Amino acid sequence: MTDIVQADFLSRFNRRPAGIWSAPGRVNLIGEHTDYNEGFVFPFAIDRRTVVALAPREDRIIRVASSFAAEAIEISLDELIPENLAGWSAYPLGVAWALGQFGADLTTVPGFEAFIDSDVPIGAGLSSSAAIESAVALALSDVWGLGLDRRTLARVGQLAENRAVGAPTGIMDQSASLLGRADAGVFLDCRSLESEVIPLGFDAAGLDVLIIDTRVSHSHATGGYASRRASCEAGAAAMGASSLRDLGVDDLPRAAAVLDDETFRRVRHIITENQRVLDTVRTLREHGPARIAGLLDASHASMRDDFEISVPELDLAVEAARGAGALGARMTGGGFGGAAIALTPRALVPEVEAAVAAAFVARGFRAPVIFDVHAADGARREQ
Ligand code: ADP
Ligand code: MG
Repeated sequence: MTDIVQADFLSRFNRRPAGIWSAPGRVNLIGEHTDYNEGFVFPFAIDRRTVVALAPREDRIIRVASSFAAEAIEISLDELIPENLAGWSAYPLGVAWALGQFGADLTTVPGFEAFIDSDVPIGAGLSSSAAIESAVALALSDVWGLGLDRRTLARVGQLAENRAVGAPTGIMDQSASLLGRADAGVFLDCRSLESEVIPLGFDAAGLDVLIIDTRVSHSHATGGYASRRASCEAGAAAMGASSLRDLGVDDLPRAAAVLDDETFRRVRHIITENQRVLDTVRTLREHGPARIAGLLDASHASMRDDFEISVPELDLAVEAARGAGALGARMTGGGFGGAAIALTPRALVPEVEAAVAAAFVARGFRAPVIFDVHAADGARREQ
């Protein structure tokens, strides 16, 4: 893809880029809705990337173009505030603005031109947004000579998404995209923001992770997210905790006594999901990847029954994949649609794909899109 982006940059801007940078999308292996409860998540960067060709200009003009959009967007550095940003360019331009909040002097840095291409599916829950933010953040940190470390670049991407795009997301996606390593996951503590790269060993064990994108849109889910968040806050308050992170499985009997049934089940999901993330990391270290399958299954059951964020298509994807030989499967992402993952022995991938597709036909659901992903290196300079 770097050759294509180089050629596209050349034809769009009539010169060669100063460099090419890329950053991957991510999938969350386990740890759902735990981020805003200051808990644990465990995503990995995937082998789908967003590539940015970029060159500084002599003046204060920024021009960004993407293979996804017909029009190049132009803005002066003097006008670069979140209120002026909208549409797809709010992602790259928001990053440029956010770098100003992390040490870049936007009154002296040069403008730039950038061309962006990507093979991260957009809106499939694989965080094409973090991929574009992380690639642009790394590119500008290099070109502007900022030398920011990757944890800081993750916060830059998050700030861009929160303020310029207006999406109240956590730091998981950018952390995975910037800190990911081949065949490894990024274990992240959302309270301390400490992270650790944990080898997955999927490749050596002959395991593939299948993404089953149900193509059920989760855009209508805003109310569902807000009410889950409110339940978590109410549950923590009723338990005398500043966040659900402070509670463990030992607190479940007291939670059952104190909370109403629905709040209790929401709280139980968060408490047990945090434990499952810790158990996944420990199991990988002590027993290898095949043994995490039961934790994936338990995570799905918890989201389906306790947190109630699954949909029939996701449940069917998980059941059909398991029935055809996947070791473990769960919905991934915020819920109410989106994708499921299935940890599958490589030899059984065709069977699992066929079984899931057939199950969707039998239920009259729209055909899912199924493909495999591999844990890949995080953001990097390509040229
Ligand atoms: P996702 O789950 O893929 O992160 P989001 O809604 O968070 O979905 O982000 C997708 C949005 O990010 C797109 O609608 C677009 O505005 C922007 N985006 C992502 N990748 C690109 C790209 N390569 N070129 C232009 N815009 C992109
Ligand atoms: Mg996103």
